[in-house]
Amino acid sequence: MKGNKSQTINFIRQIINNDLACGKYSKICTRFPPEPNGYLHIGHAKSICLNFGIAQDYGGTCNLRFDDTNPLNENVHFVESIKNDILWLGFNWNEDIRYTSDYFNQIYQYAIELINKDLAYVDELTIQDIKEYRGVWNKPGINSPYRNRSIEENLFLFDKMRNGCFKEGEACLRAKIDMSSSVIVMRDPVLYRIKFCKHHQTNDNWCIYPMYDFAHCISDALEGITHSLCTLEFLDNRCLYEWILHNISIPNFPNQYEYSRLNLEYSVMSKRKLGQLVNKNYVEGWDDPRMPTISGLRRRGYTASSIREFCRRIGVTKQQNIIEIDALESCIREDLNINAPRAIAVLNPIKLIILNLPLHYEIYIKMKNHPNKPEMGTREVKFTNQIWIDKSDFREEPDENYKRLVLGKKVRLRNACIISSNYVKKDTEGNIICIYCTCDLSTIGKNLIKDKNIGIIHWLSILHSQPATFRLYNNLFKIPNPEIEEDFLVNINPNSLEIKKGYVEQSLLNAKNNMAYQFEREGYFCTDSLYSSSDNLVFNRIVGLRNLYSKLNK
Ligand code: ATP
Ligand code: MG
Repeated sequence: MKGNKSQTINFIRQIINNDLACGKYSKICTRFPPEPNGYLHIGHAKSICLNFGIAQDYGGTCNLRFDDTNPLNENVHFVESIKNDILWLGFNWNEDIRYTSDYFNQIYQYAIELINKDLAYVDELTIQDIKEYRGVWNKPGINSPYRNRSIEENLFLFDKMRNGCFKEGEACLRAKIDMSSSVIVMRDPVLYRIKFCKHHQTNDNWCIYPMYDFAHCISDALEGITHSLCTLEFLDNRCLYEWILHNISIPNFPNQYEYSRLNLEYSVMSKRKLGQLVNKNYVEGWDDPRMPTISGLRRRGYTASSIREFCRRIGVTKQQNIIEIDALESCIREDLNINAPRAIAVLNPIKLIILNLPLHYEIYIKMKNHPNKPEMGTREVKFTNQIWIDKSDFREEPDENYKRLVLGKKVRLRNACIISSNYVKKDTEGNIICIYCTCDLSTIGKNLIKDKNIGIIHWLSILHSQPATFRLYNNLFKIPNPEIEEDFLVNINPNSLEIKKGYVEQSLLNAKNNMAYQFEREGYFCTDSLYSSSDNLVFNRIVGLRNLYSKLNK
């Protein structure tokens, strides 16, 4: 996956190249049509990179159109979050934002046109009966008893629907196509249904709303979209998309192309399911750093360019698959390895006293902010006789593979000196509470040639460090594909958040909001935009230093 950063020619770009070469189009127009019923997730990022990316690369345009035909679940808060996420990802839409509701009048007129052509009728079957009459894939449907109403009667009843004379569920408008079609979508699909609810854009203007299938193709055509790109579950709906456009007098005829959805291991990828995680308090909000939402990833510390790079690497095909979480994590790790300044944090602190340094001993130690980028400068960290080290960096018993501090043995305190441990103090339960050491005074502040037999550990002066909270995130689900279970919630990982209290170096008091660091030997972290403040530093772990695979092979 690494290497060539140029945009690979996926099958959609091939189609576009052919359409341009044969003169079918001279300008490419795409659209991104989210429903404002939740926050965008990383699957939407794939669609955004595809649609906006094509417009950018071909000198075309990409519209942002809110597919707002389902007012019950939609609201302006979601509209705003979606706009924000698209801009953050580095894209911008063509001209004004569009709403499918901008076209409600036209869509209504096209419905009347279909009635006038005897291609649509008002059905008064119950929703349950409509479902039953529809049949299944190997059993043809049955015509509704209302199917052969006259055009006049249908016009009259549709007008009644529009004027609020029916209750919800009492009537709907259906296309008259073929109840025995092998494509179930074509068995007289519903075009309009009644809903008495306030719409976030049109208020109380309408009590009938077009179905997605009816509104989408018309909106595409009205906007002059050339390539309408959607995910594979709409493959069958393409027949309907084309049927509607063939049967109404509309000037443009966009083509629909389908590609596979992005599925990501240990995640669910649907606004409805993500909304359940929020509403049932499994997470702390849509932008919880464990969520695969764009806002969650942003708060976690992902950069926009790492998400764009991920979308570039996974490509666009018709193959259905589940992308490994490592593929996403590698993108942010590679980005931060180059760009994040280094700093020190001790996540599981244990006290260490250096016996042969005086009580008020204090020296400055210069540290590089980045090992390979001198332009990122240096900083000075204070070294004193009492320091914090990480609990996992000390053991009483030696072990051949353990290269850190062992009782009676030596270790190098990074950039400071070599120490050897003498004895430990324990509490009444036998837990070590302090390690006593002696330092080799000749090594202080000297970056001597590394001795392979002596490991290196990180440290922080107790007097000159700042308390901090670390939020360590693990997968939100216990299994790679939580969607296989009927109830995806049964596989929630109860340990997806681990909170630790430790210390960071004082320079991080000035950490900017959402600023990412590599905490040496620990991983990549950033300040949490919600919880962190200058007197209460809170860091999110973005990602560890290595992926599991390389850890196992270390
Ligand atoms: P959700 O189930 O999350 O609500 P959706 O398809 O209903 O997804 P929309 O808001 O209608 O969400 O999606 C806007 C666009 O994003 C559509 O073109 C849709 O095909 C695309 N999209 C949604 N989910 C994915 C995904 N997982 N991978 C790629 N594209 C996606
Ligand atoms: Mg949808």
